[in-house]
Parts: sequence; structure tokens; C-alpha cells
Amino acid sequence: MTTDRMLKFVGTAKRMPTKRPAEERATDFGEIYEEFDAAGAQQQAGRCSQCGVPFCQVHCPLHNNIPDWLMLTAEGRLEEAYEVSSATNNFPEICGRICPQDRLCEGNCVIEKGFESVTIGSVEKYITETAFANGWVKPVVPPREREQSVAVIGGGPAGLAAAEQLRKRGYQVHVYDRYDRMGGLLIYGIPNFKLEKEVVERRSALLADGGVVYHPNTDIGTTVSLDDLRARHDAVLIATGVYKARDIKCPGVGLDGIFPALDYLTASNRKGLGDDVPAFDDGTLNANGKRVVVIGGGDTAMDCVRTAVRQGAASVACLYRRDRANMPGSQREVANAEDEGVDFQWLSAPEAFVGDGRVTGVRCQRIRLGVPDATGRQTPQVIEDSSYVVDCDMAITALGFDPEDLPALFGVKELEVSRWGTVRIDFRTMMTNLDGVFAAGDIVRGASLVVWAVRDGRDAADRIHDYLSAKAAGDARDAA
Ligand code: FAD
Ligand code: SF4
Ligand code: SF4
Repeated sequence: MTTDRMLKFVGTAKRMPTKRPAEERATDFGEIYEEFDAAGAQQQAGRCSQCGVPFCQVHCPLHNNIPDWLMLTAEGRLEEAYEVSSATNNFPEICGRICPQDRLCEGNCVIEKGFESVTIGSVEKYITETAFANGWVKPVVPPREREQSVAVIGGGPAGLAAAEQLRKRGYQVHVYDRYDRMGGLLIYGIPNFKLEKEVVERRSALLADGGVVYHPNTDIGTTVSLDDLRARHDAVLIATGVYKARDIKCPGVGLDGIFPALDYLTASNRKGLGDDVPAFDDGTLNANGKRVVVIGGGDTAMDCVRTAVRQGAASVACLYRRDRANMPGSQREVANAEDEGVDFQWLSAPEAFVGDGRVTGVRCQRIRLGVPDATGRQTPQVIEDSSYVVDCDMAITALGFDPEDLPALFGVKELEVSRWGTVRIDFRTMMTNLDGVFAAGDIVRGASLVVWAVRDGRDAADRIHDYLSAKAAGDARDAA
């Protein structure tokens, strides 16, 4: 009986999979959470109260059927749990690891009020890892092959989710990426201790086994033009993400030893993947033995501080102009960083970088939070005569990302973008103003989350299918 196994939240406490002790995990790049064992997953899934209106599902961008896969897990029916979970999510083992669950499914779990939420993300990861271990995860085999082909620009989560969905319908799918590996920020942005790279490579290999064709080292706009792609394929999806690091405008910004976050994280991830990275080997992008200051309060800043700890930095400080309650990053990641020894300096804004040729410190001003602005967040206000200097040998700026100038990059100035540079689409069709050219992921929304990229990729695949079906029907009518 289902009810015998569910509704256990009253008597069973929330338990996450074992987290490796901070002093142990801070010395390596392995993931920090261990896997649930079967009994642990079953017990935790059984805490779900099987809500009639499951707010967890409402607040998951993919509207995953969470209550059903929790019930199936509690009943030990894991193959069925995998089928349900993978029906709405192309990468459940990835989202289970890196979604900010405290802001999405778990943060909205009904039993959070009075009891602690169900550990949804960890169970999702457990289900898919079990499915991989048992050989239940299979490459796509389309029911029939279609002649029409789609070019996907960008092999990040949006592009890969779209590619898989399109292959399921039998389209010939070609993914073009400027980098040598597929995965986008999953491979070169997000560090190993949150998402081990084998997990990403396992997925990209599975897609290739299912017939998706990869074109790495192919920069659209340089190696191949957008017009070439439009001529070669029946539809094109732009899923290029956002990569232009936001600048910090203050004196001393040109000193040596100051780096944008993504340069630093990419070097570390490439090193972990076994690549030759001269700028890491010569010490430029290696925090070992250095006093490091990271500026910013989002997930990227958290990844930088925790990478620096693992590289053996002498000290790591994080400067953020608001307080902990107002920071954009996941609270769970902040807590993990604190445990690993990061010194958070809340309500601190950089005023200038100091040094003679090379950075030796960041001069900061103390901040007080004023009245909330239109977004509801309190506005930072500088406290007069409050300057102080944080000494450092390396400074990393993690202030967010903007889109590159795609119309210029692609040499197609008629491609419409918003005033922020994101690609404009018709939200009903997901098509840009260019016929047959669609867009999805961060390049449409601005810097966001993996789970939203997956959602957008899936939606775009559906809309591309509508477009290509109509086109094929039109061609058939013309031929008749
Ligand atoms: P991307 O992942 O950026 O992929 C875009 C791809 O397009 C890249 O492979 C790029 O090489 C390729 N490309 C770009 N231009 C061209 C071109 N001209 N020609 C060919 N290829 C091109 N989200 C979470 O949910 N949880 C997290 O913990 C998390 N941590 C993050 C940590 C960091 C450091 C960063 C930077 C982001 C993090 N995010 C996180 C956000 C998440 O990674 C992104 O929202 C997501 O990857 C966006 O997916 P995408 O497919 O739109 O773009
Ligand atoms: Fe939660 Fe993310 Fe999984 Fe949705 S995809 S259930 S938000 S962990
Ligand atoms: Fe179960 Fe929580 Fe979702 Fe309710 S909101 S169905 S208790 S996981």
C-alpha cells in the first residue's frame, strides 16, 4: 500500500546524502555530497505527503512529476521512477546536483512549513544514477528518420536538450560549438565539486550515440557564417549563452593579477580535464599560496572562492555589497563556502584596486542598506569615510554576464536583440525575426539557470517541430 510508505515526514527527519567533511573536501575537486544508498533514498522519498496540489512541481521550471517519482522510489520501483523523471527532464542527474533547490522545488515543498522539505534533488540524482548503473538509460532511437535537419549553435544545456528532443522526432541534428567539448557552462564554468565532468561527458556521449552530430571548434560567425548554416539546414537554433563579463569601473582595474571569473574557472576546469593550460601552470591563473579576493555574491563568485580554497590559496575573501539575506547566490552554497574557510565580507563595495603594476589589495567602502527599490531589494548606500583595504595577490571579478553582440558576431545586423543584447523571440513560436531561426536559453533570458535552459531547449524543439512539420506539409502540397 502506497500510504504505508508515504507521509513519513512526521516521524522521519530530513536527511541529505552524507556531505564530506569541509577539511577533507577542501583539498580535492570531487563532489561534496555522497550518493544516497537504496534505503536512504527510499526513506527520504517516503517523507513526501503526496500533495493534491504539489507546489514542488509548480515551482520546478520543468514541472517534473515529483510526487509520482518520490512514491515510486519509496516503493522501490526505480525503473518506473526513472521513466517518469526522464519524461520531463533531459538531464535529471545534473539538475538533481546543481539546481538551487532551496529556491525552486524544495523551497516550495509544503511540508517545509513546520517540517523540513523532502530532499527532492538528491532523490532525483539517485534515481538517474541508479538508472545509469543498471543500463536503463539508452541512446535515442527515433521511430523514423526524417530528412529535415536542424543546426543548433551552442552545446550547452539548452542546445543539448533541444538536440535530444529533436532527435527523438527523427530530425538530423547538428550541434556547432566554438569549444572543443560539448556542455557549455556545465563543462567549463561549473566546477567539479558541484558537477563532476564525467557526468556531463556521459550525457554528451549518449546524445552522439543517438545520432546527434557534433561540430566542435566551430565558431559561428568566424569559422562558419549564420547564413551558411541557414542554407545548409532547415532550421537553426541559437543557444549560445551569455559570455561578456560585466566590467567593474574603478581605479586600478588594469593592474596585473585581476581576472574575470570565467577565465579563472575555465582554466581550473580544463586543468581538471587533463588539458595543457600554460596560464595555470605558470601560476597566472592558479590561486595556490595566494591571498585571493573575489568580488560578487552570485553562484559564480561562490564557485570562484571554493575553487581558490581547493587550489591551496593562503586566504580567500569574498566582498559583497549587500548582506547575506540579499545575496543572489544559493544559501546552501554560501554555507558550504563558509564551512570551507571563506571569509565573507558583507556590505562591502570595492572602491579601487591598489598596487604598483600588480594588484596588492582592494580598497573597499562599507555599505548600509537603504529602502527597497522597485525589485524589492534594499538599495546599497555608501557609508562616508569607511574605506579599508583588503590585501591580496589575486583579485577575481564575478559581477555577472551580458550577451555578446550577436548581430555583429554573426554578421547579420538584421537579427533583432533587446536593449540588453538578448535575442528577441516571439514567445509563442520561439522564432527570432529571421525565418527558421529560433533561440533558447541564457541568450534569450539573460544569465539564468541550467534547469531553465533545459526547459527552453525542450520548448524550442517543440516549436521547431511545429515549424518544420508545416514546412514539410507545404512542400508536399506544392509538389502535388
Ligand atoms: P551555455 O551553457 O553558456 O552554453 C552555450 C554554448 O554556446 C557554449 O558551449 C558556447 O561555447 C557556445 N557558443 C557561444 N557562442 C558560440 C558561437 N558563436 N559559435 C558556436 N558556439 C558558441 N546554473 C545552475 O542551475 N546551477 C548552478 O550551480 C550554476 N552555476 C553556475 C556557475 C557558473 C560559474 C556560471 C557561469 C553559471 C552557472 N549557472 C548555474 C548558470 C548556468 O550554467 C547557465 O544558466 C546555463 O549553462 C545556460 O545554458 P545555455 O545552454 O543557455 O548556455
Ligand atoms: Fe527540483 Fe531542479 Fe529537479 Fe526541478 S529539475 S525537481 S527544480 S532539482
Ligand atoms: Fe511531496 Fe513536498 Fe511535493 Fe508535497 S510539495 S508533493 S510533500 S515533495
